[in-house]
This record gives sequence, C-alpha cells and structure tokens, in this order.
Amino acid sequence: MNIWCWISVVYAINLTTTSVQNMGIIDSTKHTLTCPKCGVVEQASVHQKGSRFGATWQQGPEFHNFEVVWVHDDFEEPQLKQAKCRQCGVDASALMA
Ligand SMILES: [Zn+2]
Repeated sequence: MNIWCWISVVYAINLTTTSVQNMGIIDSTKHTLTCPKCGVVEQASVHQKGSRFGATWQQGPEFHNFEVVWVHDDFEEPQLKQAKCRQCGVDASALMA
C-alpha cells in the first residue's frame, strides 16, 4: 500500500466518525468482565454523548454479576477501577474494546 492510499483510508475513517457524531453518540467502549473462578461473563457499554456544549461521558454502568468501582468525571471516559464477582468475591478479569 502506498502513502496516498493510506491517507485516503484515514480520510474515510474520519468521515465515518463524523456521521456517527451527528447521531449523538461520539464514542463508546465495551467492557467485558469475566470471573476466573465461576466463569460468569458480563458485558456493558459506556457511551460518550455529544451536545453543542461538548461531549460528556455516561457514568459507568452497573453489572448484575459483578461489584464494580468506576472512576470518572464528565470529560473523561470512565475507568474501571475494580471489579469483583458478587458470588465468589474474587477479582474479575476485565477486557476493554
Ligand atoms: Zn465468580
């Protein structure tokens, strides 16, 4: 792939991002939690919402199977600080996508 081809790919990605912005959701992150002991898996997404005042992030979601602690403010994506399986009380492994 030459450099011009690469630039046009980046340009196409930017166009896609712009059209998503018009729908109100700028960005989202999917968190997947897995308990290493009982194997329960749960997913939740955090969305960034755009407005004319700027973008704000939703609060971190609650999980049914996991006790979670989020760290966030309005301008930064919520960070998963801690996740424990409600049943086993062991730390969950977290995956961000
Ligand atoms: Zn468990």
